[in-house]
Amino acid sequence: MSRYVYDFSEGNKDLKDLLGGKGANLAEMTRLGLPVPPGFTITTEACRSYLSTGLLPPELRVEVTMALRRLEDTLGRSLGDFHEPLLVSVRSGAKFSMPGMMETVLNIGLNDASVQGLAEFSGDPRFAWDSYRRLVQMFGKTVLGIDGDLFAQALDDLKTARGVVSDVDLTAEDLEQLVDTFKAIVRDHSGRDFPQHPREQLDLTIAAIFTSWNTDRARLYRRRERIPDDLGTAVTVMSMVFGNLGDTSGTGVCFTRDPSTGVVGTYGDYLVNAQGEDVVSGIRNTLSLQDFAELDHAAHNELQVAMRRLETHYRDLCDIEFTVERGKLWMLQTRVGKRTAAAAFRIAIQLVDENLITMDEALSRVSGAQLDKLLFPQFGPHSNELLTTAMPASPGAAVGSVVFDSPTAEAWAAEGKDVILVRRETNPDDLSGMIAAVGVITSRGGKTSHAAVVARGMGLTCVVGAHEVSVDPVARTFTVGDRTVHEGDRIAIDGGTGEMFLGDVPVDASPVVRYLRDGLEATLETTKDDQDVTDLVKAVHLVLTHADEVRRLHVHANADTPEDAHRARSLGAEGIGLCRTEHMFLGERRVLIERIVLADEDAERQAAMDALVPLQRTDFLGLLTEMDGLPCTIRLIDPPLHEFLPDYTDLAVKVALAEAAGTPNAHDVTVLAAVARMHESNPMLGLRGVRLGLLLPGLFALQVRALAEAAVERIKAGGDPHPEIMVPLVASVMELHLVRDQAEAIVAEVAEREGVTLRIPVGAMIELPRAALTAGRIATAADFFSFGTNDLTQTTWGFSRDDVEAAFFSTYRANGVLTVSPFETIDALGVGELVRIGVEQARSTRPDITLGVCGEHGGDPESIAFFHRVGLDYISCSPFRVPVARLEAGRAAV
Ligand code: ADP
Ligand code: MG
Ligand code: MG
Repeated sequence: MSRYVYDFSEGNKDLKDLLGGKGANLAEMTRLGLPVPPGFTITTEACRSYLSTGLLPPELRVEVTMALRRLEDTLGRSLGDFHEPLLVSVRSGAKFSMPGMMETVLNIGLNDASVQGLAEFSGDPRFAWDSYRRLVQMFGKTVLGIDGDLFAQALDDLKTARGVVSDVDLTAEDLEQLVDTFKAIVRDHSGRDFPQHPREQLDLTIAAIFTSWNTDRARLYRRRERIPDDLGTAVTVMSMVFGNLGDTSGTGVCFTRDPSTGVVGTYGDYLVNAQGEDVVSGIRNTLSLQDFAELDHAAHNELQVAMRRLETHYRDLCDIEFTVERGKLWMLQTRVGKRTAAAAFRIAIQLVDENLITMDEALSRVSGAQLDKLLFPQFGPHSNELLTTAMPASPGAAVGSVVFDSPTAEAWAAEGKDVILVRRETNPDDLSGMIAAVGVITSRGGKTSHAAVVARGMGLTCVVGAHEVSVDPVARTFTVGDRTVHEGDRIAIDGGTGEMFLGDVPVDASPVVRYLRDGLEATLETTKDDQDVTDLVKAVHLVLTHADEVRRLHVHANADTPEDAHRARSLGAEGIGLCRTEHMFLGERRVLIERIVLADEDAERQAAMDALVPLQRTDFLGLLTEMDGLPCTIRLIDPPLHEFLPDYTDLAVKVALAEAAGTPNAHDVTVLAAVARMHESNPMLGLRGVRLGLLLPGLFALQVRALAEAAVERIKAGGDPHPEIMVPLVASVMELHLVRDQAEAIVAEVAEREGVTLRIPVGAMIELPRAALTAGRIATAADFFSFGTNDLTQTTWGFSRDDVEAAFFSTYRANGVLTVSPFETIDALGVGELVRIGVEQARSTRPDITLGVCGEHGGDPESIAFFHRVGLDYISCSPFRVPVARLEAGRAAV
């Protein structure tokens, strides 16, 4: 029988699916012998069961009882006893960390009797009553759903009445009175008394944490981070230790190494005489680890040992929550720490240098998304007024209009404005505003505050702890010294330095882009004075070089112009996987196309085509020159013909007006008739691609001729061209045979006339379900396939990709039909299955066929891993995505 409860000593770090990240890592630390307060974890399975039935499973009640008894026996104390009571925290923890998304309740087990026991046992009545009021407050807010401000207000009123400023100045009697006030609030606003029975407190909290999996906030975060909605959360029940037992106690957060520089053992915040979230909420100023060392040498030492132990074990940067109770260190949480994109590369290489991980592992520790972030620009030289320098929390260069609340941030962003959200501090309610903003500033809080953690996770530029900034959300202004900044004013923030500037600041290309373009040596020449940037560039170089060594997928680029081709090649592209030729028929050449379509006689049509050949030849010559020595796949013209003709409505109006004015234009009338004749209800399913090519054979012929002649010209000039012809929208092998015969004849004719040897491979774009399903037949006539997954997604789902986003994708995302657009990440189950079938069939009839993919998915990390798995030979993506694709292709291979 499956079980719902695991003691810490029974789990391990690989059970995150079942125990959540927090529970799994607490178990791991327990196994390592680190000082973890004992406890147990309730599985995500129990949560899923609760969410589907609305009831705590009966077996769970029994298993919790047994686990509680074991815990009580271990500690020799009972939950909520009036004599030396055992208290527990009840903590949420999903498989993926979701900062601040769900709630934790501390001090469960306190009631009117056990609070006395705690007072006696600790010898500190003030502490006991403070713990009790925290329980009533947290329980009231998170379990019973009472507005937290009511409690905060009551606390403020009491402080005013007593004439004190800080919580710590309230006496035991004050706090005892506050508990009464809080209990009254609970009664008035929930219609029930604060539950006195410890087990009832526990069960209600467990149910509330399960329920919190489905809050709007949690759902929004998951959607953004692509975390599935059906995982559920685990619940960890853990015996309490107290950081609020006076000045020899405290609570803190630290990282085993600085998440941006990699310096070991110095990065963290500590708060004396505090509990729980006090340290990250920014309500009081924290101490550094260095200060902590001076304050409590022994506890600090023990922490350093634990940090090193964890790093050795996880072989990665860990972040840690700890508490000191009267000089004794307790470890409350650890996980592999979030880090900035730049730090991910630098730390991976540091760990390789320290022989803690291999290069393959280093590669798996970074992601294409992180590399992508490093390609973003940074501020260039400028003389804008420096408002202040705060703490850098998440890097980047953001310029935008100041807003002070999330609704405004969302509204302005929806209008296309870049906004910077300015808050005293952020809490989970600000998530929607943070998503909408290009940058965030908080006036309070440290590097581990909510704003900092969430922004780093999202790759959002963020500075925190801007103490000189005084925010007035009501007046919608902030002031720094005597400077007042209003809502809507433009400012710029540098998340790498913490600087805030007034006005628009110009932005520069990133050093990583410079490295990709100019190479290592040249870039290091320019970064000599900046060790951080130098380290970063070297790390990216090492990781990317390793990716290139291990990857099996080749990376090509989608490029239509010599400029695109040049950029792609400089970023590491090994060929052009897709050259769209459509745009080559626009502009001045439109007239020629018009003549091809409208011509009454073949001779007239042929003349227009002949006129296009030299123009196309020039186009192809440019591409073949840039891609000398590398494959260059030219896709024959694809879109529906009417796209090259004037808009039907516009032209109809023009003709009607001209007629009404008595000045009819014969040409317009002819064109209008043609446009009307060519009108299609579903052009994307209509006369396009190979269909058009077979209907107007001269069109493909002129493209093939131009390509063959361009190749000949390159060969004669001493070049090494590798042109390839790709036929779009093939559904039947017969279509490909016809085009292929025509193309081969033209190539042979050109080769013979020019006296050169010329072979141009002909392949098919596989973008219709029928093509994938009959790939074995089509492969007999193809030298290569390129899966056109944009159209394949469109035709497999029956979605029009130009319309779905606006029409119904937001609804589909909201109700969970789609977690991500299938146009962004390949739908592995459906569209991907067609690709898999296509690959299998193609290789069965033609083992030496080359198989690739082009389209948006070629640059998407998850999709790249899929294409690696199904055994493609290459991926093709837009030039700017090439570095990301190289990295991801490498990661897919290790
Ligand atoms: P989150 O997921 O938001 O980080 P946690 O479950 O880690 O929430 O709880 C928040 C804080 O509560 C912890 O950082 C820790 O300081 C405090 N806490 C949780 N459990 C205990 C405990 N058993 N003893 C003392 N403090 C605790
Ligand atoms: Mg929290
Ligand atoms: Mg925590």
